[in-house]
Amino acid sequence: MAEQYTRLEMVINGRFITAGANRISEPVMNPATGDVLGELPHATAQELIEAADAAVAAFPAWRATSPYDRAIILRKTATILRERADHIAQVLTLEQGKTLVEAQAELAHAIDLFDWFAEEGRRAYGRIIPARALHIQQAAILRPVGPAAVFTPWNFPALTPARKLAAGLAAGCTLVLKASEETPGTAVEIVRALHDAGLPAGCANLVFGVPSEVSESLLAHPGIRKVSFTGSTPVGKHLMKLAADSVKRTTMELGGNAPVIIFADADYDLALSSLVAGKFRNAGQVCISPSRFFVHESLYDRFVQDFTTRAGALALGNGLDRHVQMGPLANDRRLEAMERIVADAEGRGAKICTGGGRVAGKGSFFAPTVMTDVSSQATLMCDETFGPIVPVAPFADNAEVFARANAVDAGLAGYVFTQSIANAQAASEGVDVGMLGINTLAVSTPETPFGGVKQSGHGSEGGIEGLHAFMETRLIVQG
Ligand code: NAD
Repeated sequence: MAEQYTRLEMVINGRFITAGANRISEPVMNPATGDVLGELPHATAQELIEAADAAVAAFPAWRATSPYDRAIILRKTATILRERADHIAQVLTLEQGKTLVEAQAELAHAIDLFDWFAEEGRRAYGRIIPARALHIQQAAILRPVGPAAVFTPWNFPALTPARKLAAGLAAGCTLVLKASEETPGTAVEIVRALHDAGLPAGCANLVFGVPSEVSESLLAHPGIRKVSFTGSTPVGKHLMKLAADSVKRTTMELGGNAPVIIFADADYDLALSSLVAGKFRNAGQVCISPSRFFVHESLYDRFVQDFTTRAGALALGNGLDRHVQMGPLANDRRLEAMERIVADAEGRGAKICTGGGRVAGKGSFFAPTVMTDVSSQATLMCDETFGPIVPVAPFADNAEVFARANAVDAGLAGYVFTQSIANAQAASEGVDVGMLGINTLAVSTPETPFGGVKQSGHGSEGGIEGLHAFMETRLIVQG
């Protein structure tokens, strides 16, 4: 098993560092089997400073490299990653648990990000603003914001590093990435590909360690000018406070709790098939996962029955097995969290239609779970579930369902299924989220902005907004 995985390394100023006798390290586990895949080196306190120093030292030359030349390296990175895709997708499944098909799709999206931002970096336009006197020229120009510290979670080990690395490097920034210690191998492969494509030393550094120690060190470094974090809302709030001390710019992609509204006039089959596939993707460990299902009362009983049947029939197992439709949870913390969420909902009167507990045997498997009669006070309705549990509730009218959809702190994604323009327009206005899918769950592509409102964070990744997140506006006035 281990030889199919990857050599775990940090990358500091172009130097690759593996685990060794005198170095603190931690094991990386396969959540489908409980096997150890490899040993991940931790950076020392001095190495964390070195990584930030390297990003600072590499910044002037990388900023001065033309967007055209940066694009050549980013496109070459994409080509190298495509050549290695079969292996990297396997690494991703081994360390994270999602099915190989999902890992391949995630990696394809990640690679596409390098191609897309390579080109978009060449279109970082400013603007000329008409002046109040003819001889004056006013230009607003975009410049890279500076060295960035970026942090990515374990649920999308290829996509989340790619969003930050591709956009940051295309913008002319240098970076220090702390990828998740639980799924580090995919990030190692991506940073290795960047170097193999000719990225100069120091432009993309990769470190691992105790997350709070790494972020405290990097965010205290005066040379770091930008922080981009994807992960949970409590950690995001903590990093925002640390960033405030030296007024570093932040992009925060935090937790979601996506409402799903199935109106009476929905294309029922489309809603059902989309939601079975979408809810259990990555075992529900997706920040834009459809989470709280509100179904019009005229469809409710039928939907509960059909969704329960389809959820209960999903094939669970090791993501490397081709017939498997849902892999394990990424770690045992999620298993324990799922048990707490189910117990809390049941304690408040909810009913379990299918699933409800962990699956016996090796690995961190939790059965696809559907619950009804869930109290609006239950954790399942209030907080991000991040797992394969679905609460389904009936609703009668639009005003009521929009209020329930919005009754949480999160506002990342939301989904509605309707065939009426009136309902689609009402939802566009009425559902308070950063991304609304109408008759689709596909709200994430390289070219579209991805980000939340309310406590789901601020700023966007993807699209022109994702490039601008790593740039700052300067005004040049010539008299
Ligand atoms: P967590 O809050 O401990 O960690 C989330 C991520 O942040 C991890 O990758 C971790 O390495 C990193 N992290 C933690 N503390 C940090 C710090 N002080 N500085 C820098 N990085 C830090 O939670 P967890 O147990 O890994 O996951 C649980 C919850 O996190 C889930 O319920 C979900 O709400 C949320 N989550 C959200 C996303 C997302 O894409 N929005 C991704 C992963 C997890």
